[in-house]
Amino acid sequence: MKALLPGTIVNGQPATLGVMGGGQLGRMFVHAAQAMGYSTAVLDPDAASPAGLVSHHHILTDYLDEQGLQQLSACCAAVTTEFENVPAPALRTLAAQCPVAPGADAVAIAQDRAAEKTHFVRCGVPVAPHAVIETPDQMAAVTGDLLPGILKTARMGYDGKGQIRVKSRSELVAAWDQLKNVPCVLEKMLPLKAECSVIVARGADGQMVNFPVQLNLHCEGILAVTRVYEGAVPADLAAQAVAATRAIAEGLNYVGVLCVEFFILEGGQLVVNEMAPRPHNSGHYTLNACDQSQFELQVRTLAGLPLTQPRQHSSAIMLNLLGDLWPLDSAPAWDKVLALPGTHLHLYGKLSARPGRKMGHLNITGATPEAVRATALQAAALLGIEAF
Ligand code: ATP
Ligand code: MG
Repeated sequence: MKALLPGTIVNGQPATLGVMGGGQLGRMFVHAAQAMGYSTAVLDPDAASPAGLVSHHHILTDYLDEQGLQQLSACCAAVTTEFENVPAPALRTLAAQCPVAPGADAVAIAQDRAAEKTHFVRCGVPVAPHAVIETPDQMAAVTGDLLPGILKTARMGYDGKGQIRVKSRSELVAAWDQLKNVPCVLEKMLPLKAECSVIVARGADGQMVNFPVQLNLHCEGILAVTRVYEGAVPADLAAQAVAATRAIAEGLNYVGVLCVEFFILEGGQLVVNEMAPRPHNSGHYTLNACDQSQFELQVRTLAGLPLTQPRQHSSAIMLNLLGDLWPLDSAPAWDKVLALPGTHLHLYGKLSARPGRKMGHLNITGATPEAVRATALQAAALLGIEAF
């Protein structure tokens, strides 16, 4: 693909980059694209979507709406996605009209836990012991060594939704009923020491760069804290995780930003969990702690611009800001939080705070791991974030 140089004028306005989905990831993509002089277009059915609110164009239709897709491809020089459950057929429709990255095939694999695991194994990366359950026969054939386990819907899960923990066969059967017998994957419950993730960006020419390994803490299935600094993840495991992520992206012939999440087991082994074909919540620290953010790299891969290895210049901790933190009819004590050195507040412009809803994140940067930890501890105490 020929590069779409920033500043190119198309039909009387700066060339437009489009994004399927109007959530916070789309909003940060839009900000990054606009910083480089591109116009932006968002397709999302919600008039108050975080990305739609800040974009030049907002197409208010469903993801599969033929007219909406037609409108998007007509105004865009290239289109990306911010949300992994954008139907792959919608991306195929768009791809017939304009460049789309990541491609529908890669997104379709990432949307299906069973296909995703098959791909990981093909790339030589260990996965959790598991069984695909799509039929009563497959359910009957499940062996006891997968219990206790977690039954996960094969498709459409996020933030721990569509998952049920089961200890016995009877619980497993009841859980599958509760999930309406849709195709599922049963995963053995593994003893986790920690969780980490790696984000890579890969261009259409095969050039690939990566961010450092992120150490992630989840609470109730939702990411709560990400730490990225020297020593957060042991160097040998970090090297393994980066190599595995690169192999996974290479194997998909992936174009765009890809995040791969891993488990670090009690025994120190690395096991891949899942991938997201887009920027990821665990990469939000890159906005303030790296010389290029994951969203800038998303813009570069989409526009066919060169990629250079990003450099982390500060130790970083990201605290996710969930709706739980919002007092009724007011806002958290941002004035006190922002009085701490190295705090960077990102709010997504959502109008109502609900428990578990991602409202924003707080990035904390510092010269040393000790400094950033001390500030994060203070910020978490001010906000009432217990996870830290
Ligand atoms: P998200 O979209 O936020 O990444 P998700 O809904 O796709 O979440 P998973 O990543 O599969 O869900 O699981 C959520 C969390 O549950 C994991 O981060 C981990 O803490 C825990 N978990 C998932 N699978 C296992 C497992 N096999 N063994 C132990 N813990 C697990
Ligand atoms: Mg996950």
